[in-house]
Amino acid sequence: MTKNNIKSGQLVKEQHLNTLLRHLILDDCTTRIGLAKKTGLTKMTVTNLVNELIQNKLICETGTQESKDSLPGRRPIYLVVHPEAPHIIDVTIGRDFLSVSRVDMKLNIIIQQKIKLSGENLQSFLHKIESELEYVIRYKPNDILGIGVVTPGPVDAENGLIINPPNFFGINNFNVCRYLKDKFKIPTYIQKDGNACALAEQMYGKGKNIGDFIYFLATQGVGVGIITNHRLLNGRRSSGAEIGHTCIDPNGELCYCGNRGCLETFINQNAVLAKFNAAFGKDFTDFSQLLAFCDADAEGEKLLFRSLDHLIIGLINAVNILDCEAIIIGGVYAQLSDKYFAYIESEINNRILLSGYKRVQLMRASIASAQQALGGACTVLYHYLKL
Ligand SMILES: [Zn+2]
Repeated sequence: MTKNNIKSGQLVKEQHLNTLLRHLILDDCTTRIGLAKKTGLTKMTVTNLVNELIQNKLICETGTQESKDSLPGRRPIYLVVHPEAPHIIDVTIGRDFLSVSRVDMKLNIIIQQKIKLSGENLQSFLHKIESELEYVIRYKPNDILGIGVVTPGPVDAENGLIINPPNFFGINNFNVCRYLKDKFKIPTYIQKDGNACALAEQMYGKGKNIGDFIYFLATQGVGVGIITNHRLLNGRRSSGAEIGHTCIDPNGELCYCGNRGCLETFINQNAVLAKFNAAFGKDFTDFSQLLAFCDADAEGEKLLFRSLDHLIIGLINAVNILDCEAIIIGGVYAQLSDKYFAYIESEINNRILLSGYKRVQLMRASIASAQQALGGACTVLYHYLKL
């Protein structure tokens, strides 16, 4: 056998091992028979590869139970993630919080540390991350597969930089991945919050079986992640998908990005709260207060329907560009009740170019915020499983 043949045989084997791990971890496929059915590999190949995964302490066998994959008279042995398999560290950073979690490969939380951030500078910011990371890393002896950092965008995911997110402790072009990798000697990745949430929805949430969807996260800002043909749309630096900074009114207010009339300036939580407070002489500080008011007040409801038009215009623009199957709504708009959801969905479907041909589904996110998504851990798995 030539050197090239050995090399390509090894590559194919690694791809098969990866495929099996992917089904075991993400699809809850837990038997050798099930894996053979899912992958189309022969039972013999699956058995050999599973043995290798067991030897490497990535998976192990567990008790036998009846399942739909059982052959008559035989009970399959179940495969689960090995208790000594490597863990993953998720570092999710918002403008006012830091959450550091140690999770297993099924994203079960082993330990989670959450602290508030306020008035940080780069030094205090790094100090807090390092001290939480040290605690979480020391907590268990399992190896660490990687550290996944999530921050508001823009980031340069390819090179590991936080570029210059607005109102984010004055951080500018800081290579957080290199810094943490040098400190902890663990592979470190970064992803912006919208992309991280989209990955989490794709791996564990409503996007699991949808090839093309937009994850739309609106809070104080707008974060978006796009899955196209089952893959995260990365662009050059994983900093695209900024639907929040598409212009919907050239005469609109100046956005911090330098553009005028950006979608984000109309639909961010504070802008909508300010509009309602001015219209009704209220002092709402939270979107849920506003929604409760609209439930009880017809004029409030009318204004909310009108306010949704900006969101609808932004989403129609996105659907016309991407031709996606679904839009998954996270953040404050996930709290809208069914009548508003039905309105948004029907307006989008009536006004897109492909109207009447294929409907776009609007869904509430199963993971409503970056803080809950463990998107950093998903980012590590995304690299490890070569998704
Ligand atoms: Zn903008």
